[in-house]
Amino acid sequence: MALIVQKFGGTSVGNPERIRAVAEKVMATHLAGHQVVVVVSAMSGETDRLLQLARAMAAHPAERELDTLLSTGEQVTIALLCMALEEMGQAAQSFTGTQVAITTDSAHTKARIEHIDDHKIRSALESGKIVVVAGFQGVDLHGNITTLGRGGSDTTAVALAAALRADECDIFTDVDGIYTTDPRVESRARRLDRITFEEMLEMASLGAKVLQTRSVEFAMKYNVPVRVLSSFQDGPGTLVTNEENSVEAPRVSGIAFSRNEAKLTMIGVPDHPGIAHSILGPVSEANINVDVILQNISEAGKTDFTFTVDRNEYAQAKDILGAVAQKLEAEDVRGDDHIVKVSVVGVGMRSHAGIAATMFATLGKENINIQMISTSEIKISVVIEEKYLELAVRALHAAFNLDGEAPV
Ligand code: ADP
Ligand code: ASP
Ligand code: MG
Repeated sequence: MALIVQKFGGTSVGNPERIRAVAEKVMATHLAGHQVVVVVSAMSGETDRLLQLARAMAAHPAERELDTLLSTGEQVTIALLCMALEEMGQAAQSFTGTQVAITTDSAHTKARIEHIDDHKIRSALESGKIVVVAGFQGVDLHGNITTLGRGGSDTTAVALAAALRADECDIFTDVDGIYTTDPRVESRARRLDRITFEEMLEMASLGAKVLQTRSVEFAMKYNVPVRVLSSFQDGPGTLVTNEENSVEAPRVSGIAFSRNEAKLTMIGVPDHPGIAHSILGPVSEANINVDVILQNISEAGKTDFTFTVDRNEYAQAKDILGAVAQKLEAEDVRGDDHIVKVSVVGVGMRSHAGIAATMFATLGKENINIQMISTSEIKISVVIEEKYLELAVRALHAAFNLDGEAPV
């Protein structure tokens, strides 16, 4: 008998029929003799709907209340799934994050899981029940409901698998595995049989939303093998593990992209030691993440300083920068929220030169201007104009020989 964690995303529980289909799937696993802990997301579109409701109330809703609101989406699904299971004659019990006691820090809307109490889950399993846990939510030490950031149900699933020392953690979604790039942007994308934690971490943090970045961090830290599979069709999916392929790793394993980008430039800022800190310090104090950074060569003692932020923090970052610019007597602040980031990722890059050259040549041939570049050992990212995103992804996918069979 194995203990298996199965997570179903929003599309997989998008309507009553699909919830019934999920009930049948988990029941089949249970009938095969296994203990099953199911993690579910809110029904598709629900989290966005709740966010819109919040925005109709306030431009900047209090984050504590936002979490109280957003957590209701998953609470609906756990109850419905348990009803469907009971209807099939299967004992099941639902748990909110608070009921399990998934303890997080107090960083509302992006909380981190700190501890999971497995007692109640274990005793429900031991009494023969299927356990259904609400994804994406937890509770802080003061009893406030918290949420884990968009896509956070993946992290709930992996963290539960780690805490329960589960034998398997299966992430069921609306694609049948992890692809060389988002198959919705490039139909020639190929499903990977396996991918290393390290590469998946990079892909996720660079924008591939098939797994939330923190779920991969958890999987890597606690060595939880994760399989990404389709809810709708059988297949092997993709295994995320720490084992590298026995064959030599390809130079590039995948192309990731993020549309959620914006950039800010401070123009004509006096160039002297400490300038980066004077500009970025106030931004980070506001808890805004800065990603790619570029400082131009200075002329006549002045320089331009550019960096990227999350698009939804753009307005706030621009306001902060305006105030800083005045203090530093910079000439101007400019912003652009029509940019995207495209990245090539692969552990094989470590041992291969020329990846950057191929990437830049490919984009140049398509007349795509590169605005910023950032590199690490296993990735190269470029910032480009938003309208070139699809073209860039497809051109790079072909240039690095990732194309599978042409679509029929
Ligand atoms: P869920 O609601 O099940 O959590 P998500 O929408 O969060 O599903 O994640 C699945 C989506 O991730 C896919 O529909 C696909 O468009 C997108 N995606 C982005 N990059 C990739 C990739 N490299 N491989 C597979 N899917 C990807
Ligand atoms: N419902 C949340 C979201 O839409 C969490 C998740 O689905 O993983 O982001
Ligand atoms: Mg998701």
